[in-house]
Amino acid sequence: MPDDLSPHAWPLDNSYARLPDRFYARLAPTPVATPKLVKLNRPLALQLGLDPEALASPEGVAMLAGNKLPPGAEPIALAYAGHQFGNFVPQLGDGRALLLGEVIDNTGVRRDIQLKGSGPTPFSRRGDGRAALGPVLREYIISEAMHALGIPTTRSLAAVTTGEPVYRETALPGAVLTRVASSHIRVGTFQFFAARGDVDAVKLLADHVIARHYPDATGYRDLYEKVIARQAALVAQWLCIGFIHGVMNTDNVSIAGETIDYGPCAFMDVYHPETVFSSIDHMGRYAYAKQPQIAGWNMARLGEALMPLFSGDPDEALKQANESLQTYNVRFGRALVGGLRRKLGLFTEQDGDGELAQAFFSVLADNGIDFTQAFRRLGEGTARGLFDEPAPFDAWEQRWRDRIAQEPQDEATRREAMRAANPIYIPRNHRVEAALGAAIERGDYGPFEELLTVLARPFAERSEFDAYALPPSEDEQRNFRTY
Ligand code: AMP
Ligand code: MG
Repeated sequence: MPDDLSPHAWPLDNSYARLPDRFYARLAPTPVATPKLVKLNRPLALQLGLDPEALASPEGVAMLAGNKLPPGAEPIALAYAGHQFGNFVPQLGDGRALLLGEVIDNTGVRRDIQLKGSGPTPFSRRGDGRAALGPVLREYIISEAMHALGIPTTRSLAAVTTGEPVYRETALPGAVLTRVASSHIRVGTFQFFAARGDVDAVKLLADHVIARHYPDATGYRDLYEKVIARQAALVAQWLCIGFIHGVMNTDNVSIAGETIDYGPCAFMDVYHPETVFSSIDHMGRYAYAKQPQIAGWNMARLGEALMPLFSGDPDEALKQANESLQTYNVRFGRALVGGLRRKLGLFTEQDGDGELAQAFFSVLADNGIDFTQAFRRLGEGTARGLFDEPAPFDAWEQRWRDRIAQEPQDEATRREAMRAANPIYIPRNHRVEAALGAAIERGDYGPFEELLTVLARPFAERSEFDAYALPPSEDEQRNFRTY
């Protein structure tokens, strides 16, 4: 049977693998003992032009585990560098992931298909190249939740267990995640070549990025400013939803402006600007409210890498990079206030709107109020019930009522708009942990599946899922940490 008629023929292209050899290492995934499909994202498969039935068959599962290559795959581990917690590491790279190739999805967008946990690569250093089931399921849940919340993100196509243990602090079941991304090009990819003084490669990469992600860019300065704009918009969306990425190193910043590398990320329950969940973020560098500033810092590092493309004169190049970087604060501020207006049910713009939102945040922080519930219930008119001591809320609410009285829209329209801006269901840590625990300890994927069902429609209240809207009990809260 010709390849193009086989249900196992992924329509793969390999544009990144056509870049020069120094952009990646070519190698095949390392086979695993006994692949077993534990989750397949059928709607996403269809969107990518892949046959879900074929993917779920033994041959398809062998491909999702890295035991067999789909026809047309040219697997590569991408080279990149990055600033990790502020310190530059000149070589990181895909130490446990392989890009199989790219497909054009049904909206015409080129999407990477990558196996994560597929075995060691030349970039692995001392790592085993593998992933444990817990983090794989966690990435699956949170990335798909982010997508449903309308936030740019990598997606999860499949999770396969390997039948092999991985050794962390203890032996854990191994798994492979199939990740889908607009691309896996990171700020750190540019830094990799810039650090070597390889300006030719920086230019080739920039041209590739323009062709792929920013076809309207009028030049390298414009490319830089477009990346900045997407990053600013992304971080504003994170703040509006209570998301904490956890490890905003430059190697974890997508040039396409998608949320990428779901490791120690988590959603806040009680609002506090200094919230940190990551066990390795001792200094709170990547705390909730630090994220805008860190994203700006990361964009400055991108500017340094791109500078040789701006001008042959280093002083002039630096001047231009700094000018472009100035656009970050403006873009971010505008995106954040826009997002907050939507959350507060404001359709028109007034100067004090950002300050009004900040005042609400302060009331939440001072009173230890759940972030997601506060905004959702504000729209429903029941937020007061969240407060033991309602006076501070009452005072703020009066300001808000005065403000919305100046809006042309009627109450019902505002309520509907607030429901569409403020989710009722987010991947709360205690729910995610419970779903992972059931799957890992008992092989019970019921809670995982139900959580995915709830999170697929985060704005649509469904009475049978009432409990998913609730914050953790004190017992469930227990100093939650991510790894
Ligand atoms: P991450 O925390 O997934 O963003 O990874 C940071 C860096 O460590 C990247 O260069 C990864 O490829 C590498 N890495 C993470 N886990 C492993 C592993 N189990 N084996 C080899 N390399 C890894
Ligand atoms: Mg990473």
